[in-house]
Amino acid sequence: MNSFTLERAQSVEKAIGAGGKFIAGGTTLVDLLKLGVETPPRLVDITRLPLAQLEELPNGGLRVGAMVRNSDLARHPLVLERYPVLSLALLSGASPQLRNMATTGGNLLQRTRCPYFRDPTYANCNKRNPGAGCAALEGHHRAMAVLGTSDHCIATHPSDMCVAMTALEATIFIEGPKGKRSVSIDDFYKLPGETPHIENVLEPGELITHVELPPAAKGQTYLKLRDRASYEFALASAAVVAQVEGGHVRSVRIALGGVGTRPWRSHEAEKALTGKAATPANFKLAAEAALKDAKPREENGFKVELARRCLARALKTATA
Ligand code: SF4
Repeated sequence: MNSFTLERAQSVEKAIGAGGKFIAGGTTLVDLLKLGVETPPRLVDITRLPLAQLEELPNGGLRVGAMVRNSDLARHPLVLERYPVLSLALLSGASPQLRNMATTGGNLLQRTRCPYFRDPTYANCNKRNPGAGCAALEGHHRAMAVLGTSDHCIATHPSDMCVAMTALEATIFIEGPKGKRSVSIDDFYKLPGETPHIENVLEPGELITHVELPPAAKGQTYLKLRDRASYEFALASAAVVAQVEGGHVRSVRIALGGVGTRPWRSHEAEKALTGKAATPANFKLAAEAALKDAKPREENGFKVELARRCLARALKTATA
């Protein structure tokens, strides 16, 4: 591991001005430091910042501080009552020990589990070494993405929480050297394109301070399919937030995990289902619409059908 300095920030302003890489729960960053994937000369510990509050908003939504731990968020009464999709997603991720450490802000910035990215002995990783090529294209790619890929990177976004927050249309609040701003979660993540090392719209020195969730429809679920039942990343997952009246889907928001290079909002599936009867046949049509642009490779073609079935089942549960 490379040597670095560590400084504890006493305020948001001081953290932003410190000019280092922020560290909170450390559940992603410490791994990457040990592996030599990340080599920042300066770390800024933000764990003492006053960003761990969880508050109800006047409109019935929820404000979640960036330092709220994943386990606290998953078990909070307001989350259990109004955002069960988020609780299910959080509790399906990692292990209890990791969830006790991981924070909301850190989860939003999780990095891919692509094995070539995490092993610096492979030089050819465009995400780690821009312009160096992509080892996964010709290497093992069973767990890689089938949606949003490019010729430069096919790495899967690893988070469960972000998939649920995408279906909930969360807004991310940011503070940085140029002031405060907010961005919808759908606009926060970038597709890899020709620059897979740029994963989101954060600019140097910017800090996520909190997330806001708007009020959401009651029909919610998160379904995660994986190689083993716990402590494993998704091969395919689906977050659904739906409102059903008189047997018809009045509104629905759909996001997929485990198959996209970013948390994958499927407007196509939503369009296919909105206004239609909540029937298995229509769920299947929506699932087909969600995967219509999938570009599988030799080892990960199974994900297309797996994701279709995962979404169809999640739609049945959320609209029941
Ligand atoms: Fe690197 Fe992306 Fe290729 Fe993995 S898929 S080796 S992260 S460029």
